[in-house]
Amino acid sequence: MRISDLLKVKGSGVITAQSHITMRQVLKQMIDNKVGSVVVLDKDNNPIGIFTERDTIRMVYKQDGRDWQSKAISEFMTTEIMIGVPDDDVEYVMALMTDNRFRHVPIMSEGKLIGLISIGDIVKSLLKNIKIENRYLSDYISGKYPA
Ligand code: AMP
Repeated sequence: MRISDLLKVKGSGVITAQSHITMRQVLKQMIDNKVGSVVVLDKDNNPIGIFTERDTIRMVYKQDGRDWQSKAISEFMTTEIMIGVPDDDVEYVMALMTDNRFRHVPIMSEGKLIGLISIGDIVKSLLKNIKIENRYLSDYISGKYPA
């Protein structure tokens, strides 16, 4: 299965933010949209960073009681983003996540951000495939198919 197949089901919506917005605004955006990551864009809408729940934990620890709420997301985002393309196999993106210990991969096509795949999206699609396979197998075992 390819990433483009997952995007067909999930859609191309990505929660994004400009680099100057404050941490308080970013966290509100993540809470309101029930997502674990935000892709940070420059003024021409090119991705320049990613900020995730893991970065929130790190930031709160590092700030050690100082006021972080009014600081810009650009101070805490990861700037070296690893991306995928629609033609990538889901297995490749799973390996990218596992090897690099992250759970979000922005998908780019012709220089444009066209989606974001999370580990949750991948688990959902694997689960669907397992259910379909189970159904075929139990139908086969119970003799629903003509001999
Ligand atoms: P996550 O497991 O996705 O919450 O992210 C763990 C760490 O990896 C955080 O510091 C993220 O900013 C970073 N990260 C998440 N996704 C990516 C990505 N696609 N490329 C590079 N870093 C990432």
